[in-house]
Amino acid sequence: MKTSFRNLPISKKLRMINLLIVSLITLLTISSMSLLKYFSLRDDYRQDAATLSAILAESANSALLSNDAQAAQVTLNGLRPVRDVLRVEIYDKSGHLFASYSRKNNTFRAPLHFDPSQYDEAAHFGSLTLDNVSPVFSAPPDKKRIGTIAIRIDLVDAYKHLANQITAILLVGLISFALIGALLTRLQKSITLPLLSLTEAMHKVSKNGDFSARATVTSQDEIGELSIGFNQMLDELSKRENSLHQELNERRRIEERLSEIANFDSVSNLPNRNSFNSQIDRALINYKYDHEKFALMILDLDNFKYVNDTLGHHAGDLLLARVAERLRGSLRQEDYVARLGGDEFAIIMRDFTDISKISTVSRKILASLQQPFFLESHEAFIGASIGITICPDNGEDSETLQRQADSAMYQAKNLGKNTFQFYQADLSLVHKNRINIETQLRRSLENNEIVAYYQPIVEISSEKIVGFEALARWIKQDGTLVQPDDFIPLAEEIGLIIDIGSHLINSSAIQTAAWVNRFGQIFTSVNFSSRQFKQNDLANDVLKALKNAGLQPCYFEMEITESILMNNSSDSMNLLGQLIDQGMGIAIDDFGTGYSSLSYLTSFPISKIKIDRSFVSKLPHDRNALAVVTAIISLAKSLNLKIVAEGIETAEQFACLATLGCQYGQGYLFGNPVPADEATKLLEMRSTQYAPSHSAR
Ligand code: C2E
Ligand code: MG
Ligand code: MG
Repeated sequence: MKTSFRNLPISKKLRMINLLIVSLITLLTISSMSLLKYFSLRDDYRQDAATLSAILAESANSALLSNDAQAAQVTLNGLRPVRDVLRVEIYDKSGHLFASYSRKNNTFRAPLHFDPSQYDEAAHFGSLTLDNVSPVFSAPPDKKRIGTIAIRIDLVDAYKHLANQITAILLVGLISFALIGALLTRLQKSITLPLLSLTEAMHKVSKNGDFSARATVTSQDEIGELSIGFNQMLDELSKRENSLHQELNERRRIEERLSEIANFDSVSNLPNRNSFNSQIDRALINYKYDHEKFALMILDLDNFKYVNDTLGHHAGDLLLARVAERLRGSLRQEDYVARLGGDEFAIIMRDFTDISKISTVSRKILASLQQPFFLESHEAFIGASIGITICPDNGEDSETLQRQADSAMYQAKNLGKNTFQFYQADLSLVHKNRINIETQLRRSLENNEIVAYYQPIVEISSEKIVGFEALARWIKQDGTLVQPDDFIPLAEEIGLIIDIGSHLINSSAIQTAAWVNRFGQIFTSVNFSSRQFKQNDLANDVLKALKNAGLQPCYFEMEITESILMNNSSDSMNLLGQLIDQGMGIAIDDFGTGYSSLSYLTSFPISKIKIDRSFVSKLPHDRNALAVVTAIISLAKSLNLKIVAEGIETAEQFACLATLGCQYGQGYLFGNPVPADEATKLLEMRSTQYAPSHSAR
């Protein structure tokens, strides 16, 4: 009850309090006035009765003394006009009835209430009557009691009158109650209305967030002050709300911009890989809920590197933007295209009726990209290889689909480029493995997984390091180290050896330049494969790499196999000539395992021969090997070529080669191929241990 009253609205509470107070006051007023009236009426009647008794006693006095009942009776009969007197009885001193009077129609016939022995006057109120008893005394000086007068007064009329009066009081009370109630309600509204307006404004703010709401100020009392304060607080709040809104809008704008940047590739004006990842996830969710098929196409440009290298990065960027435009032009509005990085793009196609539709679109894309691109007064020709996979036919998760589209794309590249391939799930395991390795190998360069290890080459007479052979290592992201025999042949087959080769040239040139600066004369020899020789601008590429690294060509050496010399055209010979002219050394690797014809040794200005380790490993006991090595050394000497023995593992082999007059050696005896920083440590040791260096060539 208490709590429910506490929770009532103030207006209701005030109304209830008003009602209670006014009712109480009215009730108290009415009842006290009625009681007052009642008691004063009784008092009046008691006095009237006493007066009447006194008057009658006066008259009855002589009658009693003279025992004249007749005279007393006459006196009593004189009371007839007095309506209120119901009955009068006069008793003599012995208490016998002396004379009596009773009004006509007297309904109150009960014996009069008195005690005759009582000397004093006494009054007794019945329910509707008043009995008054007074003793009658003889005249002074005797003043003896000579009788008693008892009177009964009728109070019915008096009470009726009293009832009328109380009714009037009640009426007045009720009218006052109504008037005071109305007045209080009016007054109370002056308190509650501003409070209501205040709460209404507060609700608008708190529930609807409407900061324009204001409380109406109707008075200057505390509530008025409260409303003014509340409105001022709202002014302040709405100001803050506005500035907060502005700040939020600004922040939203920045966030949108950031997400745009995070999902957008500024070179091609296409979504980037980040956006693509979300898009493919969305496509997968659509498939999950609406069974909406989609095709994922991975597109890799052919010859982009060539354009980039020959025309420069700016032209390369321009080309990517143009490619993006053509891709957009070949696709429908609802198809999605993103640039994944480098020259790789991804397309997500939904809503295709059948696979032939995808083939048609792929052909359209290839045809559009085959058209020449005009880049700042240059004309560039490129192509593209596209790999396609379909969800759910081939896979239902992002990673699988991307891997499949990737391997299909590399398959397209192997098929001679500028073509598209659908992912084939039923390829043989060997084929799949190979595609898998191929895919990984292609990614290895982007992921910086191909690094150069350096194996020392020492001068046999001083055992001093004079140079290093740079040997490629593939360190996968999981830390697995793959030896060149396990990936170089594949890289050669798929043409990736060109990129791997140029990466090795660049990194080893930079490393060698650092060594030369710090330790003086040191050379590095790098292996070249026949595939690299098919590049027309190989010589330029190599010289550019050396120039960029700040390394003079005399500290750089090219290792080629006999087969390159034998199989390649005059073009490659020209190429070698250019490099030799610049002072670069050329070494014949794995010498003795290839061609029997030695004529090329005289036709090219080769600087070094590396005896294959298959001979070295058999030294000194195998007579044939000893004979071959002896012959090669004397041949080299007579042709004034430097000679390196490869694969020296034992001190015995070393001693034998030293005796035979071999100048340089390479092998586990001197050191394994090691990362650049370890090779640097070897050079640091050399500077403290060995005598000053002399030229290795
Ligand atoms: P290579 O040019 O004849 O290199 C010498 C190989 O013999 C290296 O093998 C080296 O680790 C190994 N070797 C050195 N000393 C010893 C020894 O004392 N005992 C034995 N058993 N082996 C020794 P690696 O590094 O496995 O390279 C194998 C081949 O892969 C190289 O033979 C080279 O033909 C090719 N290769 C390596 N890196 C590249 C590269 O960057 N480009 C090209 N085109 N081919 C490379
Ligand atoms: Mg080699
Ligand atoms: Mg070799």
